[in-house]
Amino acid sequence: MDTVTDYSRRLERLIEISRTLASTLDHHQLLRNILNAAIELTGAEAASIMLADSKSGELRFEATSNIDSAQMEGLVIPVDSSIAGWIFTHAQPLIVPDVSRDPRWNPNVDSQVDFTTRSILGVPLIHRNQTIGVLEALNKQAGSFTEEDTATLQTLAAQAAIAITNSRLFQQADLIAEIVHELRTPLGAIMATTHLLQRAQLSEEKRAELLRTIQRETERLTTMTTDFLDMARLESGRMRFRREPFNLPELIAECLDIIRPQAAAHGVTIELHLDPAAATINSDRGKLKQVLLNLLTNAVKYNKEHGRIILSTEATPQNMVCRVSVTDTGKGIPPDSLTQIFQKFYRVPDSEGYATGTGLGLSIARKIVELLGGEMNVESQVGVGSTFWFTQPLKYTTLIPA
Ligand code: ADP
Repeated sequence: MDTVTDYSRRLERLIEISRTLASTLDHHQLLRNILNAAIELTGAEAASIMLADSKSGELRFEATSNIDSAQMEGLVIPVDSSIAGWIFTHAQPLIVPDVSRDPRWNPNVDSQVDFTTRSILGVPLIHRNQTIGVLEALNKQAGSFTEEDTATLQTLAAQAAIAITNSRLFQQADLIAEIVHELRTPLGAIMATTHLLQRAQLSEEKRAELLRTIQRETERLTTMTTDFLDMARLESGRMRFRREPFNLPELIAECLDIIRPQAAAHGVTIELHLDPAAATINSDRGKLKQVLLNLLTNAVKYNKEHGRIILSTEATPQNMVCRVSVTDTGKGIPPDSLTQIFQKFYRVPDSEGYATGTGLGLSIARKIVELLGGEMNVESQVGVGSTFWFTQPLKYTTLIPA
């Protein structure tokens, strides 16, 4: 292909891609589209998007084509000693034909992931005169990155910066609309109840019942606020994770200490089946505690009186994962609800009669598990019970024979 047709073909593709970017509202899909476009337009092997954290000023991976999301989480790129940092602070594009010869090259990321960077073309992501991050194409497949590649990537980056900013704003507005809608139910209940309380002739019993309603709805508002904040952080990619190896049975014991009083109040017993091979896992302890507590609380809330909960762990060393399951003997989940159970705000229609909730717990839990490199799902039979399970990476070294 001669250079003129090559150039006009690139322009045509850029226009097509810009249209797609402008119309993609799903944040993760948008990032994937930008990465694919960067790879295609520059003939690179991989690409990454790094964005600056508005609070700490640190550069973090927002999306990469070559690192899985769990590995990517928590990787910070030092602004003062890295190629991306240089591009970010100078707000200028840069071609590095051989990273091993560049003093700005920071080999830390490569050493933590399964990828070898040879060459980089990076451009700043600028929106309204503010540098919000860096877009990098890695390892030109044939030859070296050219000035024309730089110009193409800069044009893409200009579109990408607008699309990323818009998608964040759209997500926030969407979530706020849902939040406001959900807040209306408890607020309405509190308002109606306080009106009733103002009536002169009320029996002591009725008064106590109304006060209990106010207390329950206020508690619901408090839980909602925490859940909403978590959801907003997860959706905008602002929730930070710290993965390190820790002892799973110890964490389970801690969670059971918290759950036992609630379970005992309903005569629910808890059985434990721990696989000794699933002792050390590599995850974020605090976040996993939140996930486990959510599943255990649900297993109590939606169980029958004097029911059972079985918590088991199982290591599958060939896949290097640990599977944790929480089984209950509750009312189960109807098949048509099973597919929706992890969606935001979804509650099985008759749940309200059982227990109060926001319908956010499971969607938060599944997002956390996925960002930590695992999966979460459920099996259930109406009238028999449900098993919620999730997986997490086992600590690598536990699998190496002594
Ligand atoms: P919440 O419990 O706050 O409503 P969740 O996201 O944790 O929110 O759960 C969503 C819905 O899934 C619940 O409202 C309930 O209908 C259903 N559910 C969750 N766990 C169970 C369970 N162990 N057994 C039966 N239904 C469940």
